Amino acid sequence: MRVCVFCGSSSGRVRHVEAAREVGRALAERGIGVVYGGGRVGTMGALADGALAAGGSVVGVIPRNLVEWEVAHGNLTELRVVSSMHERKALMAELSDAFVALPGGAGTLEELFEVWTWAQLGLHAKPVGLLDVDGYFAHLLRMIDHMVAEGFLKPPYRDMLLVDDDLHRLLDRFRDYRPFGYTWNDDVSLP
Ligand code: AMP
Repeated sequence: MRVCVFCGSSSGRVRHVEAAREVGRALAERGIGVVYGGGRVGTMGALADGALAAGGSVVGVIPRNLVEWEVAHGNLTELRVVSSMHERKALMAELSDAFVALPGGAGTLEELFEVWTWAQLGLHAKPVGLLDVDGYFAHLLRMIDHMVAEGFLKPPYRDMLLVDDDLHRLLDRFRDYRPFGYTWNDDVSLP
């Protein structure tokens, strides 16, 4: 079992670094391998260090042009150097059984939204989760509810994104996840 973790190339506040390190450690302790962006910087680096320190397996996937910029981690179980951002995301998705986004920036959200929309389109059947550390995603979650209210996002698709503030509970929900068999023609009544 491998979980792909999307997180920041920046560190954010201290508590975000601590949370990322803790997620890495918790995944390693549950025997779950980590797939991530391969950097040594930001919460990415903290995640990898947390998992490695607990004896976990960590695979980094990084585009060649970011090896220096994001400072590729030198100590991973495996570092896969690819030629583009698109290849990076495709390989991260292929290597993983589930996805979790931690607090991060535009890159983190881009990666999360891609795998979530792929789930909506039935391109994969893997669970996608958002770990809401310290309420970081409160505004985003309100925006997502707004998308539903305005009729741009069907409720079953919103529900495909599993949100929790506790990693272990989120992983337990992954275990029970059944992808929604939904088609574009199903009628959803809006308020
Ligand atoms: P950020 O959350 O902006 O710090 O970015 C987190 C990670 O996402 C970094 O490793 C970025 O290089 C990566 N990233 C940003 N945009 C993309 C993209 N379009 N495709 C793949 N990775 C990306």
